Amino acid sequence: MRKTFIAGNWKMNTDIASAVALAKAVAAGSAYLAGKMTIAVCPPFVYLSAVAAAIKGSSVAIGAQDVYFEANGAFTGEIGAAMLKDVGCKLAICGHSERRHVIGETDDLVNKKIKATLAGGLLPIFCVGELLAERDGGRTEAVVDKQLKAGLAGISVAQMASVTVAYEPVWAIGTGRTATPKQAQEVHGFIRKRLAAMYNAQVAEQTCLQYGGSVKPSNAGDLMGQPDVDGLLVGGASLKAEDFLGIIKASV
Ligand code: PEP
Repeated sequence: MRKTFIAGNWKMNTDIASAVALAKAVAAGSAYLAGKMTIAVCPPFVYLSAVAAAIKGSSVAIGAQDVYFEANGAFTGEIGAAMLKDVGCKLAICGHSERRHVIGETDDLVNKKIKATLAGGLLPIFCVGELLAERDGGRTEAVVDKQLKAGLAGISVAQMASVTVAYEPVWAIGTGRTATPKQAQEVHGFIRKRLAAMYNAQVAEQTCLQYGGSVKPSNAGDLMGQPDVDGLLVGGASLKAEDFLGIIKASV
């Protein structure tokens, strides 16, 4: 039985006071679900410590929006997995589409980041998803398949127990245009089928698959009602406690 996993990606938003207030409101408003589902917030790097201190002892986990693949050293501006763990992170997003398409991260770099995340004792949320032109060109499965193979190269069956895969169609991120539950299910079903082929039936069955892309309280329930949608990665709507808590409630 896969556990529901709802994560909020705050992107480059909030300031120290609003980050702390948002995290506290999410922790207080979701306390009744402690142990029943996994809930995480992913603030900007610079607010991780403050948020961790503010919600210490709550059941809300803290994640980073990115991680560098080297453990430490002369990599100006980068942050390693051990540092993230040190400030209270439990997970790290790897290969978010904004990092792939705005910053220019490659499949190979995403793979290194997933490996470094696991080596550092954090849980990766590995993002995949196609551009609109790729969907319109009928290439969704081919794109997602390539991202899966490259991103998970060298990741073992045992390590897969720690990996969440987030399907985030790029055309649905921050656009207000959500994939229909049917579209989400089709790709999630495909991802599970590919995981069975790449690993085995047990890995496919156990891996948590999140959907991300303009999730709101009003569409969360229908998306979560799909058999292969186990959780949600939420951007814009995770910045308002009321909306994020509404999404969480709709996902129970
Ligand atoms: C995201 O940042 O992962 C995301 C899905 O954003 P939004 O919910 O705003 O589309």
